[in-house]
Amino acid sequence: MQVVHDVEALKHRSGASWMRLFDERYRQNTWPYGSGVWGKREWVMPQMPDDCIVSMYEGGTNLFWADRYGQKLGLSELWVKLCGNSHSGSFKDLGMTVLVSVVRMAIREGLKVKAIACASTGDTSASLAAYGAAAGLPVVVLLPRGKISTAQLVQPLAHGALVLGLDTDFDGCMEIVQRLAEEGMVYLANSMNPLRLEGQKTVAMEIVQQFDWQVPDWVILPSGNLGNASALYAGFKMLRELGVIARFPRLVVAQAENANPLYRAWTAGKRDVAPIQAKPTLATAIQIGNPVSAPRAIQALEAMNGLVEQASEEELCEAAARADRTGMYTCPHTAVGLAVLEKLVQRKVIQASDRVVCVSTAAGLKFTEFKVRYHDRQIEGVSGQQANPAVYLPADFGQVVDAIAKRFN
Ligand SMILES: *Cc1c(COP(=O)(O)O)cnc(C)c1O
Repeated sequence: MQVVHDVEALKHRSGASWMRLFDERYRQNTWPYGSGVWGKREWVMPQMPDDCIVSMYEGGTNLFWADRYGQKLGLSELWVKLCGNSHSGSFKDLGMTVLVSVVRMAIREGLKVKAIACASTGDTSASLAAYGAAAGLPVVVLLPRGKISTAQLVQPLAHGALVLGLDTDFDGCMEIVQRLAEEGMVYLANSMNPLRLEGQKTVAMEIVQQFDWQVPDWVILPSGNLGNASALYAGFKMLRELGVIARFPRLVVAQAENANPLYRAWTAGKRDVAPIQAKPTLATAIQIGNPVSAPRAIQALEAMNGLVEQASEEELCEAAARADRTGMYTCPHTAVGLAVLEKLVQRKVIQASDRVVCVSTAAGLKFTEFKVRYHDRQIEGVSGQQANPAVYLPADFGQVVDAIAKRFN
C-alpha cells in the first residue's frame, strides 16, 4: 500500500509560504510543532487530531558540518545529518511517531488488535517499544537472536515489550511477523507499512530547510530494507511538487558488501532485485537479503539520477575510525555511508566542490561492542589501522609522564 496526498489541495499555499510556516514552527515549544515530523503535519498526516499524536519531539536533528573529515577527503562541504540524535537513538523515531499515532487513532475508532508488532534488526524494535510505552499500547518485537547490539536488545526490554529472540535472521523474523499480521493478531509496524515512510520522508525536508531551502548535490544513505531510500525520495518529490525546490539531489544508496542485493541488481543493470542470503556484517541493522521496499527504492534511484555502492567490513571499520578522529562518533551503518563516500570521491564521481550530505542513521553509542572490538583489534580480517587501545599503568606519576611524552613527543 501507499499513502497518497492531495497535492492539489496543498497548493493553496505557495512554496514560499510553506517555507515560512515550517520555519516558524521549527523546534518551537507549541505542541506538537516542535517535532520535526509534526511541524510539517499537513504534508505528513493532515487529518491527525492533536490528542492522538504520540511524539517525543523527534526530528530537528543536527546537520553536522563535518569540516575536518571533509577536508581530509578533499571536500569543501561535507555534512552529516545526525538522525541518531533522537529519542531511541535512530531515524526510526521519525516514522514510528506517525505509525503509533495512527494506531492510537484507529483504536479510538474501533480497531481491535492484541499488540503492535515488528520484525527488527534492532532499531525499529527499540523505537516501537518506546513509542508504544509512551502511548500505553502493547508491543511485540521479533529479533534475530545474537544479531543485534546489547543496547538494542535492552531498549525494548526496558520499555516492557514482549521480546522474542528467534534463531533466524531478519528476513526469517519478517516472514513470521507478516503472517501474524495477516491473521489479524497484531498490527504490523514494519516499513512495508507506508505510514512509517510518511514520517521518515521529513528528513528530506529538514535537510533542505537546514540549508535555508537550498538543495545539496548528493545525499548518501546507508540502506538495508530500502524503506528509508523510498521515504527520502517521497520527501524530495513533495518538495518539488509544492514549489519549494526546483531539482533533486543525486541519491547514493550505500550497502554493506555482505548484504548487497540492491547493489548486485543495480550494477548488473537489472531493475528487479533478487533476494540473497545476507552474510554477517558489523552493520547489523542493514543485514537484510530480501529488501521489502526494493521496487520503491529502484524508483527513487531512477528519479534522482542515483547510484548504488557498497563497502566491505574493513572499509566500514576504517571509515568509522577516521570519522571518529575528527569528532564524530560513527555507528557502523553510517560508516558504510562514509566508506562509500570515500570511494566516490576517490573515483571523482563526487567532485571536491560538491555539497554532500551523508545521513547518519543511528547513534554510535548504541554500538559500543563495535567500537571496543575495533580498538582492541578483535575484529577478524580488520587490521585496525587507527586502533587506540587504553594504556594501563600503576598509579605512578613518573610512568604517567612517560606515557604522555611517548605519545606527544
Ligand atoms: C533501519 C536502519 C537502516 C536501514 O534503513 P532501511 O529503511 O531498512 O533501508 C540503516 N541504519 C540503521 C542504523 C537502521 O536502524
